[in-house]
Amino acid sequence: MKTANQPIGKGVKVAIIGGGPAGLSAAIELGRLPFVDWHLYEQKPTISEIGTGITLQRNTWVLLEKLGASRHLRTSDIFRPADGHDNQYRNGVTGEVVKQTHPPVIIPHQGPCRVHRGKLQRALLKEVDQGRIRTGEKLVSIEQEHDGKLRLSFASGFSTKVDLLLGADGIRSTVREFAFPSYNISYSGMTAYRAVVRASEAEQINGLSKAMIFWYSAKNRWIYTTPLDDNDWEITCRTREPDDGDRSSWGKEVSVKKFIALFNEYCEPIQQLLSLVTRVKRFDYFGGRRLDSVVRHGSVALLGDASHPLSGAFGAGAAFAMEDAHVLAGAIRWAASAGRGLDVALRVFDDVRSPHYRNLYQTLDDIAVAHQKTFSEASSVDEEIVGQINNVSSSNRNWMYYHDVSHENLNLVSPVAYD
Ligand SMILES: Cc1cc2nc3c(=O)[nH]c(=O)nc-3n(C[C@H](O)[C@H](O)[C@H](O)COP(=O)(O)OP(=O)(O)OC[C@H]3O[C@@H](n4cnc5c(N)ncnc54)[C@H](O)[C@@H]3O)c2cc1C
Repeated sequence: MKTANQPIGKGVKVAIIGGGPAGLSAAIELGRLPFVDWHLYEQKPTISEIGTGITLQRNTWVLLEKLGASRHLRTSDIFRPADGHDNQYRNGVTGEVVKQTHPPVIIPHQGPCRVHRGKLQRALLKEVDQGRIRTGEKLVSIEQEHDGKLRLSFASGFSTKVDLLLGADGIRSTVREFAFPSYNISYSGMTAYRAVVRASEAEQINGLSKAMIFWYSAKNRWIYTTPLDDNDWEITCRTREPDDGDRSSWGKEVSVKKFIALFNEYCEPIQQLLSLVTRVKRFDYFGGRRLDSVVRHGSVALLGDASHPLSGAFGAGAAFAMEDAHVLAGAIRWAASAGRGLDVALRVFDDVRSPHYRNLYQTLDDIAVAHQKTFSEASSVDEEIVGQINNVSSSNRNWMYYHDVSHENLNLVSPVAYD
């Protein structure tokens, strides 16, 4: 590819597709590279977030600090458990606490917390040069031209030509379809329901504590309850549902009555909490096999959910998206300073991030195997619940919250590694 191996020079043109955590983080990071001429394209009319809450673990905070966005999240914007736990696990049928996990020694302001997804989005957006964002632009096609550059066409009729295309366009990525045309995702058989209720009402319920709690039931079903801030509580429920031909929704409003009936085996505090729900949305989980590489053609990189389309990333997906952006910008900075091309920058990015995602898929596979064993060996629902909790909460799964991605990056980027 002609442009890909030219030394990165001033005015290198980059398109970021998607204004979620991955795209906004990439915009902040690239905005710090004076030789990059970037624009971000988002299909929605505004930069907005659907869904309810998101957990910020230590690596999310480290990245938010690097991005300058942490200062836009005040203490009153978040819920951080007073005792510093990252999760409490309960038997959802009896209500009993089975386990509570804590992070390793951690600086208090980087401790785990829950926040409205919209607040995280706005905090990131404040650090972005908004004059470079074009909303209402849905990318519909990509062509590689003779000079190796990419021609991007949008539904509005707008078109542009770039040296580097960043697919930060989420799980149903158009950029990934172009880069890996034979790749597919499908409905995983799991679905989530998400609702927000008033804190003032939730706090009256006996047996419900102000904590980030997974209430497990049989067969890999759970309900997650947590305060989001002083005003709101979040309820996220995950359950298994067959494919009824209507499995493509991401945030579709559904009947509250039918939703509550799905969880009738749950204990009294949860029944009371569910009775406060007035609106609920369904989020069907889609996923696909691991991609061997997150880059293509020396001119395309996938970031965030586009790069690891799986259903459930242990509440670490936003951090992974920010890490991707940080590593990619570091790789471009290094390649430019070493007189190398975009192809080398993308190889560095791939060498750092692909192993990360391999470990993530492996962790998911390990849990699936452990769960199958639990399901076949448990002699009671209580035993099955405890088994599932032990499978998901084991401390060797926590690397994804506590590793430091800048160290991985530094180890790889040595002048001799890419000769
Ligand atoms: C139920 C659930 C719970 C989760 N909980 C957590 C949690 O607790 N903690 C955590 O860290 N993560 C959590 N995650 C994961 C996290 O939400 C995602 O990993 C994160 O949002 C990924 O960010 P992203 O920027 O890659 O993609 P997205 O947030 O999906 O953003 C993609 C953007 O691209 C835009 N777009 C798509 N196609 C186009 C196109 N063709 N043209 C232009 N724009 C386009 C979309 O409109 C969207 O704005 C959860 C996910 C789910 C499903």
